[in-house]
Amino acid sequence: MKHVKHYVEGKDWERPGGAARHGDLYDPATGEVTGHVDFASSADVDAVVTAAAEAFPAWRDASLAKRTAVMFALRQLVHERRDELAAAITAEHGKVLSDAAGEVQRGLEVIEYACGIPTALKGGFSENVSTGVDSYSIRQPLGVAAVISPFNFPAMVPLWFVPIAIAAGNTVVLKPSEKDPTASTLLAAWFSEAGLPDGVLNVVHGDKEAVDALLDHPDVKSVSFVGSTPIARYVYERGTANGKRVQALGGAKNHMVVLPDADLDLAADAAVSAGFGSAGERCMAISVVVAVEPVADELITRITERMARIRTGDGRRGCDMGPLVTREHRDKVAGYLAAGVREGAKLVVDGRTVEPDGDRAGFWLGPTLFDDVRPEMTVYTDEIFGPVLSIVRVRTYEEAVDLVNAGRYGNGTAIFTNDGGAARRYQHEVEVGMIGVNVPIPVPMAYYSFGGWKASLFGDTHAHGAEGVHFFTRGKVVTSRWLDPSHGGVNLGFPTQN
Ligand code: NAD
Repeated sequence: MKHVKHYVEGKDWERPGGAARHGDLYDPATGEVTGHVDFASSADVDAVVTAAAEAFPAWRDASLAKRTAVMFALRQLVHERRDELAAAITAEHGKVLSDAAGEVQRGLEVIEYACGIPTALKGGFSENVSTGVDSYSIRQPLGVAAVISPFNFPAMVPLWFVPIAIAAGNTVVLKPSEKDPTASTLLAAWFSEAGLPDGVLNVVHGDKEAVDALLDHPDVKSVSFVGSTPIARYVYERGTANGKRVQALGGAKNHMVVLPDADLDLAADAAVSAGFGSAGERCMAISVVVAVEPVADELITRITERMARIRTGDGRRGCDMGPLVTREHRDKVAGYLAAGVREGAKLVVDGRTVEPDGDRAGFWLGPTLFDDVRPEMTVYTDEIFGPVLSIVRVRTYEEAVDLVNAGRYGNGTAIFTNDGGAARRYQHEVEVGMIGVNVPIPVPMAYYSFGGWKASLFGDTHAHGAEGVHFFTRGKVVTSRWLDPSHGGVNLGFPTQN
């Protein structure tokens, strides 16, 4: 049985006498409890934030060369150990190994971006803004940055923030999901191995009590949160009320619009890959296919052919799709199948009948397809976060755009078409943060920024890329004059250039 502890000042840490509360860890493919994770009390969080605050001045003053040396060394370690990290993710999350390795790769790309932090932190310089006066801008770190992450990307989401926060000179307290915390503690140990001084990255485990303690702690200067919309809204409101800078990324319901001129094989491949990859537990998963008639019948035929070939089972056995993360979540998603039928949607493929390649006690639900879904049904309105794809039939492009824009979320969307003009019009008109044109999961590269609109993001700043660097730093503008003989004497007027 594993025992996952907090990671503080470069080592595993537990409260003398042990943590008062724990969470169970499961292997979702077998249903077995495999260990437990300590839950932090408010006092534990206070001790961890204090350690991070004490480490801040020295790390802020470390040269860019020293900070980037750590990032380059970390990049090498994660690259060499990606299989170990992927295995740890699969053991607690359930996603298949190849998918876990893909997640590690996307996280590595942010580490690589952080290796280039000297370029990203460059300021501007204007010579002679007034006679003999120069002006320049610099960006400085904030202090202690809190990062709170969800279960569905236990390595990638922490890596969206942590490398940039640290490379920019902050110290970090990371609170990963209590469902799959091992990836974060592994990464923290590897940061130490890469030369990061003790106290710069700390991991604290737990639930609402730990999150609330971070949101209220005066030494926490920023909060980067990713999770469901109700909690994202709560974190944003409580964090900003306490004067912190907050970026809180929330849930999603992503639409894929298929126009009549689309390549239907490409569209069917994309819908199945993006709908059922990671068992639909991705914030960029496609959960609604908006079929612009007359394509729906033909598209459904091609989608169901492909669904029949998906192997659901243990992620360590070369299957295509793994189990859901917990039994409760599996049952909640299965509840939407019953609700969809009750509300009048047509259940084309029923995932409850799946024969998994894995232990019967695993948290299984096979790929599911609904047709004739209407916008008032719960399978349409709610973020299901499971392997459930809904087809909504519309008559025109305009109806499709209106439907997407009426949704409460605005994370990702895709359009499938061979008409460049239609695609251009869609990316212009749609109220969504990340758009794919014949690309179903348009996750931006590390050097662009990731984030949605509307109920998918609270705050203004997206993750990583230039916006990430901006979030983890604050600007100063310096106006300087070095003594010369013509300083001109006292002047009580407002400064103007001359
Ligand atoms: P969640 O909101 O349940 O948990 C996220 C984090 O918040 C966890 O660390 C958890 O411990 C903490 N938390 C949970 N309840 C809390 C409470 N009442 N008070 C304070 N903190 C609390 O989300 P999840 O189930 O772990 O992750 C899935 C969700 O994350 C989905 O909604 C998905 O769309 C979203 N997500 C969004 C993005 C994005 O970029 N927008 C990316 C990944 C996941």
